[in-house]
Amino acid sequence: MTAPSQPQTSGKVVIRNVGLMLSGRLGAPILDADTVVIEDGRIAAVGRQRDCDLEHADIKIDARGTALAPGLIDSHVHPVVGDWTPRQNQLNWIDSTLHGGVTTLISAGEVHFPGRPRDVLGVKALAITAQRSFAAFRPAGVKVLAGAPVLEQGMVEADFAELAAAGVRLLGEVGLGSVKGGAEARQMVAWARKHGLQSTIHTGGPSIPGSGLIDKDVVLEADADVIGHINGGHTALPYADVCELCERSARALEIVHNGNERIGVLTARHARELGCADRLILGTDGPAGSGVQPLGILRLIALLASMAEIPAEEVFCYATGNTARQRGLDCGEIAVGRAADLVFLDRAQHTAGRDLLESVRLGDIPGVGLVLIDGVPRCGRSRNTPPATQIPVVEEGTR
Ligand SMILES: [Zn+2]
Repeated sequence: MTAPSQPQTSGKVVIRNVGLMLSGRLGAPILDADTVVIEDGRIAAVGRQRDCDLEHADIKIDARGTALAPGLIDSHVHPVVGDWTPRQNQLNWIDSTLHGGVTTLISAGEVHFPGRPRDVLGVKALAITAQRSFAAFRPAGVKVLAGAPVLEQGMVEADFAELAAAGVRLLGEVGLGSVKGGAEARQMVAWARKHGLQSTIHTGGPSIPGSGLIDKDVVLEADADVIGHINGGHTALPYADVCELCERSARALEIVHNGNERIGVLTARHARELGCADRLILGTDGPAGSGVQPLGILRLIALLASMAEIPAEEVFCYATGNTARQRGLDCGEIAVGRAADLVFLDRAQHTAGRDLLESVRLGDIPGVGLVLIDGVPRCGRSRNTPPATQIPVVEEGTR
């Protein structure tokens, strides 16, 4: 259970006695399966135990009737370097987040970097450095997709081509730099898209002194791939404007923990009524003025399942398969070929819910019992969630 920072290979891992298999896929969020076989970090089989080849495992995991879900994906974080955030001057926030069941973090810009450069060359240098650094060093084993430059005035198409050639795949939140107008944002977002960089836009009022308002007209005009924190970060747009964003754009709708909870709940319900729940993705927007939220994604799942009254198994899809699809990631679902990023969950001790899904529907967060990344166990019983009623047992194998 040590947490080396470099990617490791899992060998063959056999997981049996899963009580509830959450696929991460809308349309079929619960699988008729109790067994998963992993080969070298990827899911090789999912099904009933009698149909799976369990021989010669390097690691055997008895789930003891607990639930298995894809590792959670936080679509919106602001990392800086390693496992330190200057925002609240905190160490090991990513390790703590792993204990909240999160296996992938997606940067919306390394904007808290002290003295962050605002000139175009400096912006590119920081983005490339962040991309390189987090690709080579996974804090606590967590996958951090970073290197997300914030748009500054003066950037030209060649800058995006250069960033793409250097391996940068993301844009930081549009609006956090000097580009705040719809027309100039639209031009740069289009250049970024042409060169394979995915974009996110800040939505709503300023998050901290120095940032600004991005209203619905700018969001629609810029046409970024992800409508970042559609429920505000923290200050939300009027609900009528949020509805207009859902209706007039086809882009991803990102709900964050550090946003307006009322608008988050209403947005999720509205997207479902419009038949576009596949666009809903979840993030924390941490570290932030609100602090670091190791359990932010689990709390958001419980919030939407209880207050928006959406089936819990569907809300888990927003935090896993939906994000993976919108972001083009190879994780986020329990399916053959996917990265074996998995979290074992059970109802928290003494919840009023009789099982995991009912407990989440009642607004309680589950307990995390074990987390795998690329099939490798990264943490056992979470030090941060309420204790799970039952936890899996990991045994060395028989190979
Ligand atoms: Zn923001």
